[in-house]
Amino acid sequence: MAPSCCNTVHAADRLNVEEIWWPKVPVCLILGESPGKPGSLHFYDPIPIGRTDPVSIRRRLLNELVAEGLLQGATCEDFRERGYFFDHAVRCQIPMKIVKRDRQLAQRYQSHLVTTQSHLARLIERFDLIWVMGHMARNAVANLGLIHADRRGLIPAYTEGRKFFISPYVRHYRGYGPHDIVAAFVAFKRTLGYLPSAGDSRRDGNGHRGVKS
Ligand SMILES: [Zn+2]
Repeated sequence: MAPSCCNTVHAADRLNVEEIWWPKVPVCLILGESPGKPGSLHFYDPIPIGRTDPVSIRRRLLNELVAEGLLQGATCEDFRERGYFFDHAVRCQIPMKIVKRDRQLAQRYQSHLVTTQSHLARLIERFDLIWVMGHMARNAVANLGLIHADRRGLIPAYTEGRKFFISPYVRHYRGYGPHDIVAAFVAFKRTLGYLPSAGDSRRDGNGHRGVKS
């Protein structure tokens, strides 16, 4: 059934993402803004073999997680195995012109798009860690009263309490990039005890306390 927000079946539902990609041991929900314009490939669409992954957020995020030792391979299977799940604050596929306008509003916590969504609270309560990526995602989580409506920029990434890591989209900015963002996330996980401390030479990438990888 098409939801009332955009009268279109969401890619997340078309692909059954919660059924197929929900981790056995949920550790971290990564919350992006929205899944591109209508017809765009979704994070959980199959990764094409033999050419560059056209889903840029997936390509950059998975590659950087591999580089930091959190994943063994840049695959959705390994991502799930390590306890990660990716979703969007807004599940509708919307023309980028509207997304860009809404992102501006989200910087003042006035996004219209995030208010039409109902899936977030249910997902967030099932994870220990939430990576909030981008202004619309931050606006959505603040609307739920889970983080402050902080006016600071997203660069550099910052954390709130023991659950929320807040960052810009994983891409290159002037003087700040995917490596900086993911390294900050790794440092946060390490602080919380999910990873061996920096002085420990074990780099098994196991993201969860007491759970065999
Ligand atoms: Zn929708």
